Formats: sequence, C-alpha cells, structure tokens
Amino acid sequence: MATGYCLNENHAHHTLNGHPEHAGRLERVWEHLQSTGLATALRRVPTEAASRIALERVHRPEYIDHVRAMCRRGGYLDPDTYVRPGSWEAALHAAGGLIALVREVLTGSLTNGFALVRPPGHHAEADRGMGFCLFNNVAIAARAAQAEWGVDRVLIVDWDVHHGNATQHTFYDDPSVLFFSIHQYPFYPGTGAATERGEGPGEGTTVNVPLPGGVGDAGYLAVFDRLLAPIAQRFRPDLILVSAGFDAHWRDPLAAMEVTLDGFIQMTRRVKEMADTLCQGRLVLTLEGGYDVEVLAHAVANTLYVLAGQDERAQDPIGTGPMATRNVDHLIDELCALWHTG
Ligand SMILES: [Zn+2]
Repeated sequence: MATGYCLNENHAHHTLNGHPEHAGRLERVWEHLQSTGLATALRRVPTEAASRIALERVHRPEYIDHVRAMCRRGGYLDPDTYVRPGSWEAALHAAGGLIALVREVLTGSLTNGFALVRPPGHHAEADRGMGFCLFNNVAIAARAAQAEWGVDRVLIVDWDVHHGNATQHTFYDDPSVLFFSIHQYPFYPGTGAATERGEGPGEGTTVNVPLPGGVGDAGYLAVFDRLLAPIAQRFRPDLILVSAGFDAHWRDPLAAMEVTLDGFIQMTRRVKEMADTLCQGRLVLTLEGGYDVEVLAHAVANTLYVLAGQDERAQDPIGTGPMATRNVDHLIDELCALWHTG
C-alpha cells in the first residue's frame, strides 16, 4: 500500500500573467518534488479527462457548455476567473485527476494521495464559475466515489482560507456528505457563517468555522481537536477528502491568517489519523489555493511526507510570521456548544 499523487501537466495551458492563480504555482511544486526525490519515490497516477456524466453530477449542462464556449474564445467567467483555449482540457484533467486518485484509493491500490491540480474548484457553483474555479473538483470526486464505487458517506474537510461556497451548496441538503470548512470570515466569497448548517435531511452535515484574521496554528489545531475530530467520529465517513489550500499561511498575499508550514503538517497528521481510525486510511487531498509559490512547494512536499508516513522529513524553513496570533478560544467554545462537542 502506498501514497500516490497526480499532476495534470496540461495545467500549464491555463495561465495568465500577473494573475495569482498562474501556472508557475504547480511548476514550482513540481521542481521541488523532483529535487526532493518525492516525484519518483511516490506513485504517480496519470490524469484523465473527467467525463460529461461526472461533471453533470455537480454542474448544470448549460453551464458546462458555456465554459466550453468561453474557453474556445477566451475571456472571463467572472471578474476573477479567466479562461483561455487550454483551460478546458486543464479543468477536465483537474477534476479527472482527482477522480482517478480517489478510484485508486477506493479500489485498494493506494492508501492515500494528493491531487496536484489546477485550476482549483471549491468556488465553482452548479451554474457559475467564480474565484479562479471552473469545475468543483472535490464535489465531482465525492459524487463519483458514491456513484461509481459505492461509497456511502464522504467527509470533506476544507482548510483553504476561503469558504468553499460551492461545495457547501452542492451538498447542503445531502446528509451523506459532511462538509467541514474552516476559513477567514467575513471574507471572500462572503458565505460560511456558523449559522449555515445545512437544510432538510442535510441539516447538521454542513459545519462552518468562521474565524477572524490573525489566527495561527494553535487556533487551527484547537478547531481540529475540539470540533472536527468529534464531528468526524460521529459521522463515520467511508472516505475523507480535503480541499487543501495553503493560503492560510502567514506569507500568503491574498489573506490574513498566521498559519505556518508546521501548522499544515499538524493538520495533515490529524486528518490522516482520522482516516486511519475511521475509514481504513482512505484519504485524498486536492489542491485549492495557496499563492506564495515557495510556501506552496514546501507545503505540498510536507503533506506528501506525512501521507507517506515519513513525518520526520517534513520541514518548515520559513517559520512563524512577524505578527502575534489571535486567541479564538471563546469562539471555539461557542462552536463546541453549538455542535455539542468537547
Ligand atoms: Zn483560497
């Protein structure tokens, strides 16, 4: 049993000079994986294009057609979200790469894995692209796991600094997918208040942890220990997926959190322990945001080391930020009361 990854090479055709979500992000990650030896030490799963059926489990047919047409001529799906001719294949391989990795884990040929894909996905709604996202990779993969490999319950943890609005909306009334998001709030995209808890049969399977800027490792890890761990245990997932953005890092140019590379190592350890305890280790992460490319390269390598059980090789050469971190114990106390956890 092994740790795998995928990297959609055609991501490079989806790029725009001066845009924070550019091809240089994954290019730097790939260089670092080669120089550390991780690229060859772990199993690389080839990406494939997501099928129309897979996309339509999450997105409206008219929206899929619209994206295809917009990619052909180039332009913007929203003021933040560019597309160009190569974006279509890149987006299909981002979703399809994650699906392939999930399949390898569910069929038992891999223990866990990390999909190194772009464009990211968690802001892409059923009928609207936004926030650098074309298709909602993690939602598409969760649905594929259920429809194609008989998975019952999926836990999606979203630690990208932005709220995963579209993942929340996809599963808002669905009790079979628990969406747990920790994010800066109020902030882009505006959703993610603690009062958003799902609806109908899905009431209680959307969990939002909105935090003010300035929260560091201690605050994040307290959320993992006091909220996520007991909620995950109660939910008993068959598979854990993670929307792994690294834009909560203190050096990220787009947000105001104070998490360190070491904090991300600890967070990865915790979800891995949850997967080991609750679902035979079945854990797949997918890349979302993270806009400081050096931070991103180290964060991805560290994540892979932890997944592969080589924690001692994970490193934080960047250290802590210059700002004091914010104590959010009282806020976490209130959320624990709301969710009846320790
Ligand atoms: Zn983000």
